[in-house]
Amino acid sequence: MNESGLEDAYPGILRRVQAAAAAARLPATLLAVSKTKPAAAIAQLAMLGQRAFGENYVQEALAKRQALHGMHPELDLEWHLIGPLQSNKCREVALHFDWLQSLDRGKLVEPLNRFRDGKTPLNVLIQVNIDAQDTKSGCAPAALPQLVAQVAAAPHLRLRGLMAIPAPAADSGVRRAAFRRMRALFDAAKSTFPQMDTLSMGMSDDFELAIAEGATMVRIGSALFGRRT
Ligand SMILES: *Cc1c(COP(=O)(O)O)cnc(C)c1O
Repeated sequence: MNESGLEDAYPGILRRVQAAAAAARLPATLLAVSKTKPAAAIAQLAMLGQRAFGENYVQEALAKRQALHGMHPELDLEWHLIGPLQSNKCREVALHFDWLQSLDRGKLVEPLNRFRDGKTPLNVLIQVNIDAQDTKSGCAPAALPQLVAQVAAAPHLRLRGLMAIPAPAADSGVRRAAFRRMRALFDAAKSTFPQMDTLSMGMSDDFELAIAEGATMVRIGSALFGRRT
């Protein structure tokens, strides 16, 4: 997508997110997913007013942030890791990200908490494998209550909610059902941990459906930046 593409796409996507949120009577925020896109594209979107960005790979994110800082030291952006987290990356994530959306197993809690000591708590979403896909990361729904409690007990982590990537389904009814199951898991966990305020689900192809089913954060890449090559 050329430069004017982003300028055209961003206001339109923002309007659609806001309209869907108004219809659902819930706040919804937009996370711009910038994986594979250059630092210059991030800078351009940031100049249009976008503040929260999601990246899938730790090294790619850190390299782009360094480049961005060189170009625009004044930009104060919020960084979310949305890709799978390997245990050997816990330190870098704890030191350099504002949010981790892909926490999916208990053994990551202790190192993340330890490396975050001395900073404001790391905002954490627990990723749920809502369609029981073999290839996807995410915690099984049955294991969720224990993991939620573990994160809530970690002083340097701030439990904010849940994240999911439902299986790609041509049938929107199937996707809607997955979003509904996520909403039910979220409401159940929130009844014990009322600080949970974020349900991250919905991407370029289905964010309005996700918001209608209770998403409070949608993660949008290609509809903003153009197709990834
Ligand atoms: C790539 C990605 C997105 C954005 O996908 P689009 O279809 O390009 O909007 C959202 N969430 C996660 C976890 C991703 O990896």
